[in-house]
Amino acid sequence: MLDTTLIVLCAGNSTRFALEPKKQWIRCNDEPLWLYVTKKLESYQSFAKIIIVAHEEELKYMKNFNDEYIYVAGGDERQNSMANGLQKVTSKYVMVTDVARCCVPKEVIENLFKHRDMADCIVPYLSSTDTVVYESETLNREEIKLIQTPQLSDTVKLQEAMNQKKLFTDDSSAIKSIGGSVFYIKGSSKSIKLTFGEELSKISCLPTPSKDFFVGTGIDIHPFENGKKMFLGGVEIESSFGFKAHSDGDVLIHSLIDALLGACGAGDIGEFFPDTDPKYKGVDSKILLQEIVKFVKNVGFSIVNVDVSILAQVPKINPYKVQIKKSLSILLGLPSYKINIKATTGEELGFVGRSEGVVVQTAVNLKYYDWSL
Ligand code: MG
Repeated sequence: MLDTTLIVLCAGNSTRFALEPKKQWIRCNDEPLWLYVTKKLESYQSFAKIIIVAHEEELKYMKNFNDEYIYVAGGDERQNSMANGLQKVTSKYVMVTDVARCCVPKEVIENLFKHRDMADCIVPYLSSTDTVVYESETLNREEIKLIQTPQLSDTVKLQEAMNQKKLFTDDSSAIKSIGGSVFYIKGSSKSIKLTFGEELSKISCLPTPSKDFFVGTGIDIHPFENGKKMFLGGVEIESSFGFKAHSDGDVLIHSLIDALLGACGAGDIGEFFPDTDPKYKGVDSKILLQEIVKFVKNVGFSIVNVDVSILAQVPKINPYKVQIKKSLSILLGLPSYKINIKATTGEELGFVGRSEGVVVQTAVNLKYYDWSL
């Protein structure tokens, strides 16, 4: 009978990790770390349900990778995130793991389950091989336990323990604080916790990212509107008319955003910034692009190159090509030689040729951020 739920905590901001992607999104072959870790645990043990607690903005994108898991928005602290996840648990037992604990060996998981009925919380630990001094007193090393995760708990006890105001650094100390029992099992030195980006070079259990490339294309069209400022690629173009739009109408940036989202499989601009939302009325499209670039990098991609085609009878694009390249280079964090701007007229055909509006088509190329270098 499946009586245990797995909660994987991956709502952290990766501040200490300090690499372009968030730690939960670095790729192992083709899989983001959060998925790789979850699938490894699933291969060791069957679970009633699997709950992924993550940053609210990433939940929808995560569902692309597996739509059978339950995705829950995290909180500011580990404990709030855990409490959010625990609300969805209906099984008798729950195992909580941090995505950072990415290499837990099968034996540790088997051992947790073998001892499940010994206490309210089963905890793996390591003994200290170093001498430990606390406030100038040397402690008895034999009595020191270095606590690890994942821990396996009685669901009701853990829910009760986590609903306290006080913050705890692990499940077992919270359970102990409400008078619950704890049973310790041998952990493993292989259960490393990935905190800093530079630790990746020491971790041998994770496969390196695949070398695949991801192409995305985006297209956008805007009609002209008299008396509005015109922006293309974040550059103001001298013109007596601009673009009719809910935002500032930067048709180039909009097509670039769609190309970026296309390459990482994250939908389109309207899903991120609905034009029905008054928040985006007249918004500077550079801000929207910056948000998307941050998202693309957070979820594990690097931008390789960008190629833009502007179809415009008017205005004349040629005098602005260099400026547009520079502007995009800053916004994308990409050298300008990896950005290409092309312009063509509509040969007086169609709405472009009749000078009614502009079309921009963009292609981008992404690859996984290579943390193995
Ligand atoms: Mg648009």
